This record gives sequence, structure tokens and C-alpha cells, in this order.
Amino acid sequence: MSKTDYSEQHGGPLLDCLLTLCRFHDRKLSRESALAGLPLVEGKLVPSVFHRAAKRAGLSSRLATQSLSAVNPSLLPAVLLLHDDRACILTGLDPEQGNARVIWPELTEAEVSLPLDELQRQYSGKLIYLRPEFHFDARAPRARKKPDGHWFWGVMTENRPLYRDIILAAIMINCFAVAMPLFVMNIYDRVVPNHATDTLWVLAVGILIVLCADLGLRLMRSWFVDLGASRADVKLSAAIMEQILGMKLADRPASAGSFASNVQAFESVRNFIGSVTLVALVDLPFFLLFCLIIGLINWLLVLPILVGTVLILLYAALAQRKMQRLSETMIRASAMRNATLVECLSSLETLKTVGAESRMQGTWESTTLFLSRITAQMRLLAASVSNGALWVQHTVAVALIIVGVYLITGGHLTQGGLIAAYLLSSRAMGPIGQAAALLSQYHHAAAAMESLNNIMARPVERPQGKHWVSRPILRGDIEFRQVGFSYPDAERQALADISFRIKAGEHVAILGRNGSGKSTLEKLILGLYEPDAGTILIDGVDIRQLDPAELRRGIGHVPQDVSLFFGTLRDNLTMGTPHVDDAQLVHAANLSGLAGFINTHPSGFDMQVGERGQLLSGGQRQSVAIARALIKESPILLLDEPTGSLDHSSEEQIKQSLAQIAQGKTLILVTHRSSLLALAERIIVVDNGRLVADGPKAEVLEALRQGRIGSAA
Ligand code: ADP
Ligand code: MG
Repeated sequence: MSKTDYSEQHGGPLLDCLLTLCRFHDRKLSRESALAGLPLVEGKLVPSVFHRAAKRAGLSSRLATQSLSAVNPSLLPAVLLLHDDRACILTGLDPEQGNARVIWPELTEAEVSLPLDELQRQYSGKLIYLRPEFHFDARAPRARKKPDGHWFWGVMTENRPLYRDIILAAIMINCFAVAMPLFVMNIYDRVVPNHATDTLWVLAVGILIVLCADLGLRLMRSWFVDLGASRADVKLSAAIMEQILGMKLADRPASAGSFASNVQAFESVRNFIGSVTLVALVDLPFFLLFCLIIGLINWLLVLPILVGTVLILLYAALAQRKMQRLSETMIRASAMRNATLVECLSSLETLKTVGAESRMQGTWESTTLFLSRITAQMRLLAASVSNGALWVQHTVAVALIIVGVYLITGGHLTQGGLIAAYLLSSRAMGPIGQAAALLSQYHHAAAAMESLNNIMARPVERPQGKHWVSRPILRGDIEFRQVGFSYPDAERQALADISFRIKAGEHVAILGRNGSGKSTLEKLILGLYEPDAGTILIDGVDIRQLDPAELRRGIGHVPQDVSLFFGTLRDNLTMGTPHVDDAQLVHAANLSGLAGFINTHPSGFDMQVGERGQLLSGGQRQSVAIARALIKESPILLLDEPTGSLDHSSEEQIKQSLAQIAQGKTLILVTHRSSLLALAERIIVVDNGRLVADGPKAEVLEALRQGRIGSAA
């Protein structure tokens, strides 16, 4: 296998089409940046996520279902989806000649002419139009933030037509609401005194029609509200996950559990936008309409309603401050509780061995107690608002009837008028009460939104609008120039003023005491963290210019703490390299010494490794990590104490495999085992974050033996 095998083309025909079109539109996009973090199917780009990859190159795209004859030639070139998951680019159509011009991206970039009916036979009926988005540069600064750019409001505004329909339905429903009171009023005032049963039937039929229409509209409205919420939910959840996975490690929150809880708080945002009670807000303006109609019946009847409304709003406003505070406290407390839970669950074994159960139990109980107290307060407050609103509504009704009776005795109002006013008043007060009750939900959602905004604003590895040039690592030169680095919130520098140059194909061992910065050095090469000072060059290119995904693809890494994921052994081995075939898989397993263990296991490569690889032993996990690193065929190998948990015979096997496979590759090996030093021809010693020795193996070992290499402290 050649040295550059790791950069093998992947991503499927759709990605090939996209890359070709990017060149056509003069947009820059590399294979890695197009795909990084997108959900792929068997390692291939699929039509449903095509627009997300295209957006990274500044192209907006639209999937259309059309026959070839209906294709608009002015919108070409477009991507045609063919049968069998193939695709091509349609650049021109000539129906008169019966010809089409297409580019087969997997072959060449040259246009070829094709008979239309031939293309028709392969065409699946769907195509994707692409259009370059206009790109403002730094000379045209944005006056104010557009809602489109906001992760939440941007998605919500996409559903604008849907919400317009919802509002329209609400308007109609409210207009219909006037019908019932008018019906009752006419029955009392006209039908009953005159025994006019004919009129009764006419009115009844009319009101029935209105009621049916009302039912239909209400059903439609709740369907649309749900539809809007679920559409938004899918997109927003995807955006949140993309943000989490794309976040820079330096900005990673301190606790996974509390972070997870903050992310889950999205649930309350979704419930809020998906609740039909939110529609009650649309009803609010109709309060005025109902008041106006009551006023037309008799203006004195409006007074109790106004007084009641003011009372409800005043109380809601008073409760609001407290509710906001409680919501925020609640979110923080539940984050803390979740953090305790997750930490306990993930290290249950250690917890038991160390005997720290009672401490964790204590933390858990105290946070739960606090949380339940806050929740109870919140509930009480919310209940006081909604029940208070109900009480006011009823009192308003009583007051309205008292006023009405006086008006009737004075001859200013008919009986029917009083009943209509009574019915209308409850319609008018309803939304006010609902809006007040919505307040607690709102504050909870707003607090959740605040913490989500916080998450969404954290810096990511591949910010939107940053264009990476595709530069696969081909040789494997690594150079550090006066690199300094400290972890976020750390008081001490983890690395200071480190300079060295490792030529492609060189094998270097890094030695140093615990905590001297060896692992940190490798994390910097992997681009997991950025240096605070100095530069790191790979193949002579500043690491910041390299797409993180492309960089990591070119590096086989065995971490000090191996982490596996729930799934089979095969899944874990091929996780980052879905295109490898079984032969490569077996080859890597042989090299890493996994083969013996796999061959004797009944399920072989399909054995379950358990969460975090719990079902394997420490040494087996390490072998898996080694196989995972070797499978990539990358020009750089970074091994961080790769044999720390291995027995002597496995170590010997790894050593031999490495000696064979590392030929021509850059190898950086952190180790405490003297036997592995045989692999290296050069040794770098770090101490306390500083480079204290760098030279040929024999010299450095001799100097170490004689104690000539001092510590940096
Ligand atoms: P080693 O040479 O043993 O591999 P490391 O590179 O892991 O040492 O660590 C170097 C220093 O950086 C240590 O003092 C350690 O406390 C600190 N450190 C390591 N990882 C982190 C981290 N994620 N956050 C903060 N400090 C860290
Ligand atoms: Mg280490």
C-alpha cells in the first residue's frame, strides 16, 4: 500500500459532484471540511444532508423532484441523482437535438455529450440546484445582527409561512367566537318572546355551520403548531449536536453531566414553542374586539373586564421577577445534580473501591433537596398566577352580571344582551388568564435558551465562513517553533518555549517525568488545542491552516487513556475510517496483536466491547487503540505510552510490528519502557514543560545515565 493511501477518495459520488461544482463556482471546499461531522450513510454523502455540505462552501442548494424536460436550463449546472445512488452534473440540455451535456465527476472533469433518452433511463427523478450565496467581505460590515444568523431564530423564521397560517386560523377562530353570543342574544330577545321557531332553525343551522368550521380550524391550528415545532426541533437538535461536536476542546465545559443537562434544557424550549397555549398569545389582540362588541351592547359592562385585566396583569408582572430568578436557579441546580449522577455512573467501580459512596450520596441528596424546594416554590408561584387569574375571571363575571341586572332594571339592556356580554367576557378574559399562566413556562424556556445561547456562542474548530485549503499531510515533517501553551484556567504553563524539528520518516522517543508535558505535546500536534505562543508546522505549513479533520486523518494516534464506544470491535476499529475493507482490518489486527484474541472469541470482530470498552481488559483496549491507529495508514504515528498496559509478549509483538510499519513514517513515541526505545533513533527529553535534551539516542541515553541532563525546575 502506498504512503498516501490514507487520503483515499471518500464521500461518494454526491461529494464528487459538489467538489466539482465548487471549482466551477470558484468556491473553496476540501473533502474533509465538506464532510466533517455530517451524518453519512456508509461513508457517503446523501441528498438529505447535501445542503449542509454545500453551505460550507457558500452554496445554497435545493432538492427538486422534476422530470428532465422540466429542468430550467438557466439554473444549470445542477446535480442529477441517478439510480443506484450514483450522481452526475448536468451542464446543458438540448431537447431539439435530443442531447444532454453532463460531467461524470468520478471519471474526469470534462463535459461529455449524452443522448437524452439514455440519461432519462438512469435519472432517478430528483435533482439538486445550487446557487452561490453572495459573500460580503470585511469592507461591508453588518449594521446589526440579522436573525437569520441566530441558531434559533434563524430556524424559526424559516417556518414563517407556517406561522402565518396559524395566525390566520387564529383570526378566523376569534371571529367565529362572536357568533355564539350573538346567537344566544337573538334567541333570548327575538325568538323566545315571539315564539319564532322558523327563525330558531335558521339561526341554529347557521351556528352549526360556524361551529363545524371552528372545529376544522382548531384541528388544523394544533396540527400546524406541532408541525412547526417538530420541524424546528429536528434542525435545532442537529445544530446543537454539531456545535457540541465542533467545539474547541479548550472551551469544553468542566463537567459533562451539567453540560448534558443544559443541552437537555432544550426540551423546555421545544415544549414552549410546541405548546398550543402559545397560540393564546395570538388571541390577545382579540380582547379588544370582544371589549368593543360588549361596549356596543352597553359600555358600562366593559368596566369590570378592564379592572379584572389590570389586576391579572399587575400580579403577573409582580410574580415575573421571582419566577425568572427561580427558573435560573432551577436550571443550575439540575445541572449540578446531573453532573453528580453522570460522574457516579461513569466511575461506579472506582467509587465502590475507594469507598466514596457516602460522599456522592450526600451531594446527591443535598442537591435534590434544594432542587425540590425550588421546584415547589416555582409551582406554587405558577399556581398562584393561574388560579388567581381564574378567580379574577369569575369575579369579573359576577360583577358584570350585577352591573347588567341594574342596567336591565333601568331599561338600558335586554336579557339577551346580558347573556351575550357574559359569554363574550369569558372569551375576552380567557387569553389574558392563559397568557399569565404561560409566564412560568416562558421563564423556564427563556432560562434554558440563555444557557443554550451560551453553548452556541462558544468557539468551534471550523467557524462558518472559514475556508480551508485541502492540504493532506503527505510527508510528515513536524516542526515546533518556540511553542508555549497553557491549559485554560491553569496557572502553570504546560509547555514553554519548545522548539524542535522532526524530519519526515524520523523516529523519535519523547521522555520525561509524569506531568512534564509529553501528552500535551501530542495533543498540540493533533490540533486538539492551539498553542498560545509560537507555531507548529506540519509539512512546512502552519497547523492553523490545516483543516482539523484533514490533519487528524493524517495522524495515527494511540492516546494514553484509551476510550472505546459502545458497539462491536469492528465498529470501534473502523469508526473514523469507514472505507477500509476486511483485509485491511485483519492486517491491522495482526499487527497490533489483537488477532490471537479475536480469532479465539466466538463472535470475532463482531464482539461487543461495551460502553467505554468496559467489556475488554485494559491491555486489550490498548491493542484496539493501536490497531485503530495503524488502520489509517497515515504518514505520522503519535503513540502515547502505547504499551503501558501490555504484557511483555504483546509488547514485543507491537515492537516488531512498529519496526516494520513505521518505516518511512514519522514516529513520535512517548514511553517509559526501555525496550521500545529500540524503535527510536533520536530522543527528546522534556521536563516541566521545557525541552531539556534533544539528540541521537545513544548520546542522550548516556547523558541521562551520567545525570548530565538536569531538570528544568
Ligand atoms: P505527561 O508528560 O505526563 O503526559 P501531560 O502533558 O499530560 O503530562 O500534562 C502536563 C501538565 O498539564 C500537567 O501538569 C497536567 O496537570 C496539565 N494538564 C494535562 N491535561 C490537562 C487538562 N485537560 N486541563 C488542564 N491541565 C492539564
Ligand atoms: Mg501523558
